[in-house]
Amino acid sequence: MFENSQESRTNLSELGEFGLIDHLTKNFSPKLESTVKAIGDDAAVLNLKNKQTLVSTDLLVEGVHFDLAYMPLKHLGYKAVMVNLSDIYAMNGTATQITVSIAVSNRFPVEALEELYAGIQLAAKMYNVDVIGGDTTSSTSGLLISVTAIGVAEKDEVVYRDGAKANDLLVVTGDLGAAYMGLQVLEREKEVFKANPNSQPDLDQYTYLIERQLKPEARKDIPPLLKDLEVRPTSMIDISDGLSSEIIHLCKNSKLGANLFEEKIPLDPAVISVCEEFEIDSTMIALSGGEDYELLFTISQDDYDKIKGNPHLTVIGHMTEENEGMHLITRANQKLPLIARGWNSMENKED
Ligand code: ADP
Ligand code: MG
Repeated sequence: MFENSQESRTNLSELGEFGLIDHLTKNFSPKLESTVKAIGDDAAVLNLKNKQTLVSTDLLVEGVHFDLAYMPLKHLGYKAVMVNLSDIYAMNGTATQITVSIAVSNRFPVEALEELYAGIQLAAKMYNVDVIGGDTTSSTSGLLISVTAIGVAEKDEVVYRDGAKANDLLVVTGDLGAAYMGLQVLEREKEVFKANPNSQPDLDQYTYLIERQLKPEARKDIPPLLKDLEVRPTSMIDISDGLSSEIIHLCKNSKLGANLFEEKIPLDPAVISVCEEFEIDSTMIALSGGEDYELLFTISQDDYDKIKGNPHLTVIGHMTEENEGMHLITRANQKLPLIARGWNSMENKED
C-alpha cells in the first residue's frame, strides 16, 4: 500500500497540457439539466433557475493536507470532492457541479493522474454532480488539487451558521473521531514500513478507521432526511476541524453559548478500542480530531420528537445564552470550557 509502483509510466510531456486535459476529462459527460455547457469552452454555463446558488472551494496541498505515502491517488481524488460537497450539504443544499484544478510536477506520470481522475469521476457519479471545468498547470515539486463545488437551495431552505437560538438542541450526524484515528494508524504503519519495508501490516481491525480517513463520504443524505422529517435546522456547519471548533463557530456566529455532554458524543466502538491502544482520550479525539465530514446543526426543542431515535442523528447538547459560555459537561459532571483544537482542554479545570 505504500508503494506507488506504476506498471507503465507515460511522461506528462508526451501529452502536453491540452492533450492531458483532453485525456483526463474525456469521460466526463454532463448529466444534469442545469449544466448548459461543461468542459471545452472559456467558461462553463449553468442554469440554476431561480434558486440560491452555493459556491465553496478548498485547496489541498501535498505534504500539508495529504501524504502520498499512504494516500492512494484515486482516494485523494474522491476525498478532494467530498471535502467540498460536504460544505454544500452544510448549507442544506444540493450539490450540482464541481470544477477541479491541479498543479502537478513531472514526477507524476500520466497514469498517476488517471488514478486521481478515476477517484474524481467516481465521486461525481456517486454524488450526482457534473465536472464542468478546471485548470491544469505545472508545479515544481508537489501536487496541489483545488475543487470548487456549486450547489443550489431554495431561498427559505438555506441554513447559515448564525441562526441558532438559545435552548436549541445541538445535533450531530454519524459518529466522530474515526478519520483522525485512521490517520494515526496509517502514520504508525508508515514508520513501521520505513524501518522494515518487508513488513506486512495487518490492518483488518482498523478497516473502519482507515476508510473514514482515506475514503470519507459527505452527508448528501442529511438535507433530504431533514426535509422528510420536516425539521429545518436553525444553524448548520460541517465537521472538518473537530467537534469543539465547529461548536465554537456556531456559537460565535449565532452569538450564543453551548453545553456539550461528553456522554452523548457518538463514538464507534473501533474508535474507543483504538484510543485505548494509543492511550489517548476518545473524547479529545472527537473534539479535536477533524476530517469527520459529519454535519453539526441546531434545531428548535419543539422538533425533538421528529428526530428522536433516528439512527443517523444524536443530540449532544444545547445552546445557551452567550454569557453562559461554551462548555463540555464531562461524565463526572465537571464543567470544562470548550477550547478549539485544545489537546489540554481536559486538564483545564478552572471555571
Ligand atoms: P483556458 O485557457 O480558458 O484556461 P484551458 O485550456 O485551461 O482553458 O481548459 C480547457 C477546458 O478544460 C476548460 O473548459 C477548462 O475548464 C477545462 N479544464 C482544464 N483543466 C481541467 C482539469 N484539470 N479538470 C477538469 N477540467 C479542466
Ligand atoms: Mg486554463
